[in-house]
Amino acid sequence: MAIQNHPSSPHPATRRSALIGTLGALLLPAAPVFAAKSRAAAASPASSEVWPHASAVPGGVARLSLGTAATRPVARTTDDLPLLVIGDPIEWTALVGIPLAARPGNAHIVRRTEGAGDQPIAYAIATKQYSEQRLKVAPGKVDLSPEDQARYERERDHQAKVMAAFTEVPAHDLQMRVPVPGRRSSSFGLRRVFNGQSRNPHSGMDIAAATGTAVRAPLPGRVIDTGDYFFNGGTVWLDHGGGLLTMYCHLSAIDVKVGDELKTGDRFCAVGATGRVTGPHLHWGVMLNRTMVDPALFVPAA
Ligand SMILES: [Zn+2]
Repeated sequence: MAIQNHPSSPHPATRRSALIGTLGALLLPAAPVFAAKSRAAAASPASSEVWPHASAVPGGVARLSLGTAATRPVARTTDDLPLLVIGDPIEWTALVGIPLAARPGNAHIVRRTEGAGDQPIAYAIATKQYSEQRLKVAPGKVDLSPEDQARYERERDHQAKVMAAFTEVPAHDLQMRVPVPGRRSSSFGLRRVFNGQSRNPHSGMDIAAATGTAVRAPLPGRVIDTGDYFFNGGTVWLDHGGGLLTMYCHLSAIDVKVGDELKTGDRFCAVGATGRVTGPHLHWGVMLNRTMVDPALFVPAA
């Protein structure tokens, strides 16, 4: 999937270079750390080399500079959801998951400072046109019986609680490893019509793989939910910290339980065809601030 550059994307290297001269000695106590960071900044000036990539469109991620501060600033959405803030005292960056349903145009987040109130930080959401996909599935997976509707609503309420997880911000790099090898559909954001009826857009990446293929953790994380859900089938949620969650659906096997800690590359479940599917594949979702965003922004191009 193409990466959308956006004119409001910050230029961390430039800003960092400008600030290092005046603030580096003050804010970075250890010389070796300072040297390493200088090299990293010089080596990756392009926004395409930061993780996740910036793409301020519906379903994308905005990277908004919060500037310098001795300690990690607090930033929240206008709906008062906490945002993942990464960086260091030289340059903090808020990562903002933009909902697929967001309207293009002006938007803002708020930076909250103890004693000084909220400061709005503006950005622009660019337009992105997603195409439409028509699918045929079992009629009972589109027009739900009263029992299935009740089950779906219970599961939806449960998942909403899972999605609210916001634990300690990850210290590691956010570049992800693709959880299974295989052909990746670029179907994130597709408007879907099931058996002639419009439903929610596709909010993840589908990776083609045979039933039983091992699924591996894309980053260190903790298992925060496992289950067998009406639409998603066998499902695992991982919490990577700071509201960065990943979801794995249609699984044939789940080898972990809630509370298990995973390292990058650990096998924890297997590809299947459970739930509302047309064939075996992994549905992979990536969430920031309770918003599903395009997983392609977190992984190297196929
Ligand atoms: Zn999918």
